Amino acid sequence: MKVLVIFRDVTERRVVEKLRKEALMKSRRRQQQLRYMVHVAPVGIIIADSAGAITMINSYAQEKFHLDKNKVIGECVHTLFEQSSQKDYIAVRNLALSQELGGVREKRFDGHLISSDGSSFFVDVGVASIDIDDDRILAHVIGDITERKNMEEELRRLASVDPLTGALNRREFTGLVEKLLIQRKFGDQPLALLMMDIDHFKRINDNYGHLVGDDTLREFVKTVSGQLRSNDIMGRFGGEEFIVALPNTDPASAKKIAERIRMMVRDTAIETSSGDVWCTVSIGISCCPSHGRNMDELVRVADEALYQCKRRGRDQVLLCPMSLHGNEQAM
Ligand code: GH3
Ligand code: MG
Ligand code: MG
Repeated sequence: MKVLVIFRDVTERRVVEKLRKEALMKSRRRQQQLRYMVHVAPVGIIIADSAGAITMINSYAQEKFHLDKNKVIGECVHTLFEQSSQKDYIAVRNLALSQELGGVREKRFDGHLISSDGSSFFVDVGVASIDIDDDRILAHVIGDITERKNMEEELRRLASVDPLTGALNRREFTGLVEKLLIQRKFGDQPLALLMMDIDHFKRINDNYGHLVGDDTLREFVKTVSGQLRSNDIMGRFGGEEFIVALPNTDPASAKKIAERIRMMVRDTAIETSSGDVWCTVSIGISCCPSHGRNMDELVRVADEALYQCKRRGRDQVLLCPMSLHGNEQAM
């Protein structure tokens, strides 16, 4: 009876051992397959332990992002990102780590990754915390979106500028200045608008042709831009009409700047295929808060001043002679 019991125990143990061995081999095979998949994946993959230290980096990440395996293994993942992206990464990583045991939670963010040679890549990063047996690991899937971001940036730029002169287009200019005027409500800095119109521009087109007219517009913008500060904003309002916003500029300073621009335009020869061309400009000025507090009011008043310049003979500057309510105002 006793012998029989021992015989049955041995059989059971052998069966259990066999099953365990098979399970271990299966698990190793699976791990090998997984490691292979990670290494050949056409996307950057970085594995870290739950404390964030890098334990594995796939071939794609090493090649694409110039990451030296010997340098990054053991480092914390956040050190791969630019300072400005590290906070985003840590927030996303903590969210991923906050999942219930046994689940997978993936979070994403866009940021700048720095390669081992110092170059920078705009990347899209998915961070997932994965539980394997009793271990929790962090898997990072990293895609290069530098080209896409550059293209988006270029499209945004193209949509905001006038293609002929490079000045901001009317929509972009108006949006920027409206923002400045809203910010102004919380402060008391003045802002001036210069509405400019090239005098007798039609004659340039008529005398020299449209291409020379185009050159004149381009050179005009260069001449005016050369007189502006870095935070002044210039836009093309339409045709041969341009507008400049001068933040933190009181009426007296605005008049001085406008006068300087007028003189510079008058004194600058525009070199064209048909020889030197000369032009003059008329400039109407309005100021916030004296003449208005929003774009519509300021543009209307500056336009009126410009109209007066034209009536008085062109090639001049006028700081709006009318108050918002239509009374003559000495300024
Ligand atoms: P004023 O002194 O009263 O402003 O006279 P002006 O001749 O400058 O004004 P007018 O409005 O009579 O003519 C403006 C001309 O500007 C007419 C239009 O064909 C021309 N124009 C508008 N946009 C462009 C452009 O992009 N290129 C060229 N070459 N000409 C343009
Ligand atoms: Mg004109
Ligand atoms: Mg005009």
